[in-house]
Amino acid sequence: MATQTDLSIPGATIREDVIVPAREPWSIKMRQGEILRIIDLEGQQAVDFLCYNADDPSDRYNAANTIKLNGNIYLGKDFGIWSVRARKLMTFIEDTCGSHDTLYGCCSVEIDDVRFGKNNDGRGCQGNFEAELAKHGMGAKDIAANINLFMYVPVEANGDVAIAPGVSKAGDYVDLLAEMDVLAVLSNCPEALNNAAGMKPTPIRVIVYAL
Ligand SMILES: [Zn+2]
Repeated sequence: MATQTDLSIPGATIREDVIVPAREPWSIKMRQGEILRIIDLEGQQAVDFLCYNADDPSDRYNAANTIKLNGNIYLGKDFGIWSVRARKLMTFIEDTCGSHDTLYGCCSVEIDDVRFGKNNDGRGCQGNFEAELAKHGMGAKDIAANINLFMYVPVEANGDVAIAPGVSKAGDYVDLLAEMDVLAVLSNCPEALNNAAGMKPTPIRVIVYAL
């Protein structure tokens, strides 16, 4: 279960180290140069992720700009997370998983009701984001199409697209370097009706390193 990986980063100190329980959101303001490590403790756990310019939250993660400037619909090591104003918010400086989604957005009570005729006991990443953003004076209007860390969404040549079983293993992680002061917001996905979280949502660990 928990990773045995060496958690230290040379020259860095840990200023935050928390377990985010299954189905829960979390957020943190980060200074330029800090590193956010997100660890998929048990594997196959989607982590819905949003990022904002801390000084101007309207300049937030933009999926289309990120796809264009990386030249790829998937995210991984050395790829940037780009904003509406084409500023680099964060960079993937490490990635042991290799596949992160930009297309599929987040789950919600409403879309689960449409797709499955039921939902996850009233929980969804949309509601998680709204609750977490409220702590920062923000709300539903501030939610854009998000990154899905550790979620595998293959796209076929004919355009067919669907969630496939996750490829992340227990202990896989990403390190995201803040390229400027940012607000990072995540939802540890509560979805148990498809493969987003391996049909069984599990906890993650998040660590913030200050250099
Ligand atoms: Zn979700």
